[in-house]
Amino acid sequence: MDRCGECGFEYDLPNAPNAPALITKGAAEFDAILQDSGTDMRSRREPTQWSPLEYGCHVRDMLLVQRERVLAARRRHRPSFDPMGRDERVDHDGYAEQQPVDVAGQLTMAAQLFVNVLTRLSPEDWDRRVVYNYPRQAQRSLRWVAIHTVHEVNHHLLDVRRQLA
Ligand SMILES: [Zn+2]
Repeated sequence: MDRCGECGFEYDLPNAPNAPALITKGAAEFDAILQDSGTDMRSRREPTQWSPLEYGCHVRDMLLVQRERVLAARRRHRPSFDPMGRDERVDHDGYAEQQPVDVAGQLTMAAQLFVNVLTRLSPEDWDRRVVYNYPRQAQRSLRWVAIHTVHEVNHHLLDVRRQLA
């Protein structure tokens, strides 16, 4: 089983049907953090590290991109995807200029939209495959895509919590 060396997350693929609940939980935690007006969301603690607000924007956009990838996998045979452009979006979408409370609501909605698509997968659909380019190019099942998305949410929650500690 793949394991993230930094946060300890394990890619437990049989647990994929629980991904909707795990993503909903993680998004709710992100939402609560971004709504906390007593905390500085905008400052980068390190010049090369995203601020909590920028991480929130990234997770929102990542959830929207993953939703489109899962939908593509249902209608096409083994689709491959362009990178989401995580670094370019910081500027192109003006992450640092957005309102944390707005991003909190958008992140929650993005999670709902993604979770809705996951909950409509049949057991066979979970085995549909995509060509995924991160962390290396490989064929991945939608189970892996869902679990990887749980990891993204949880890993970035850790990134943000470290900054708030
Ligand atoms: Zn991790």
